[in-house]
Amino acid sequence: MKRKYLLRNAICLLLIICAVTAVTTSLRAEDVVGKEITHWQPGMIDIHQISTGRGNAGLYILPDGTTLLVDAGELEQKTSNHTPDRPDSSRPAGEWIVRYIRHALRHDPKPSLDYALLTHFHQDHIGGVTGDLPMSRSGAYRLTGITWVGEELPIGTLLDRGWPDYDYPIPMTKNLMSHYRNFVKWQVEHNGVKAERFIPGRNDQIVLRRDPEKYPQFEFRNVGINGEIWTGEGTATEHHFPSFEGVSEKQLPDENIFSAIFLLRYGNFRFFNGADQAGIRPNKPDWYDTETPVAKVVGPVDAAILDHHGYVDTMNEFFVSTLQARVWTVSVWDDDHPTPGVVERLFSEKLYPGPRDLFALDAHQKARDSIKEFDRIASTQGHIVLRIAPDGGEYRVVIVDNTSESHKVTKIFGPFQSKK
Ligand SMILES: [Zn+2]
Repeated sequence: MKRKYLLRNAICLLLIICAVTAVTTSLRAEDVVGKEITHWQPGMIDIHQISTGRGNAGLYILPDGTTLLVDAGELEQKTSNHTPDRPDSSRPAGEWIVRYIRHALRHDPKPSLDYALLTHFHQDHIGGVTGDLPMSRSGAYRLTGITWVGEELPIGTLLDRGWPDYDYPIPMTKNLMSHYRNFVKWQVEHNGVKAERFIPGRNDQIVLRRDPEKYPQFEFRNVGINGEIWTGEGTATEHHFPSFEGVSEKQLPDENIFSAIFLLRYGNFRFFNGADQAGIRPNKPDWYDTETPVAKVVGPVDAAILDHHGYVDTMNEFFVSTLQARVWTVSVWDDDHPTPGVVERLFSEKLYPGPRDLFALDAHQKARDSIKEFDRIASTQGHIVLRIAPDGGEYRVVIVDNTSESHKVTKIFGPFQSKK
């Protein structure tokens, strides 16, 4: 009798060990340094910052496979102030982005973008326009950045800060905007794209499209745009900018401060993206600083992208000490990004205690020479992939070679445990 009982216990224990091993193995990304990055699997979130040397492009693969592209930039002109084109200059940035997306979505026989979000209307986020760029098949606009992506990949919903009138704070008539607006119009009228203005405060504008019931612990919160910021209660917002009525174009604030800002949650995991918002405002009125009101409502996060590429006008002390990210990433390809003062604040234990790591997309030589703590930056070159495990309990940072299309992993960091 006793032996039978012991045997039963031993079998139970074995089954439990097998189950636990299966669970932990499934949580573990199988990435190996020197090998191609493994593809996304259901339940995971992958956040890719794609390195082109010519602007921002962020691909988000959500737990049920819903896809979101945040920005797709192309600089009009490259100079020695920028890092080299990635992987090289043989293709435009938009084409490299499409090729990268197709690889990242190779689990899907018909890759598409459920959402494209353009945070604001600068060339490094939507694509600059020059005369030698090819025209679209429609003949209505040139192919650059997001318009190139839209020519090659189907887009479900396109969100930006201006639809449908594109008139805040003043009518947007620049060359870059006339091509972009023709692109949106064409996509809506001929390709069935739904265009929407990104509405601050809402958590039902970017949702899981493929299997939402399975992942109730996922939420995408629109935190702010056009200076209107979520209060943290329901979907209520507050306006932080004054009226710009009657203000001349020259006196208008920079496009950056109108950026779309969001917070993504998955179980305990929290990720913040403030696009090109500002937080330090010498000789400017207080309302230029949106970092402070945004930090108050966002609170501590696990991972975040540095605001405005870590430029001199960002990452104020209150913002850094409130977000307290374990992982900071920065989208850089320019010699002013990130600035030494920003890096000093990020690493300052006075602002918040505990370990933290910074990952840079592609650091310029000037940054290498001028940043005192440069050697503390965990990675200074390569596509940055945040891989969040199913349930959001832990995550890794995987760095992928940006000098070719090998998609080879060059470094792996973590696992990091999400904050409770
Ligand atoms: Zn930018």
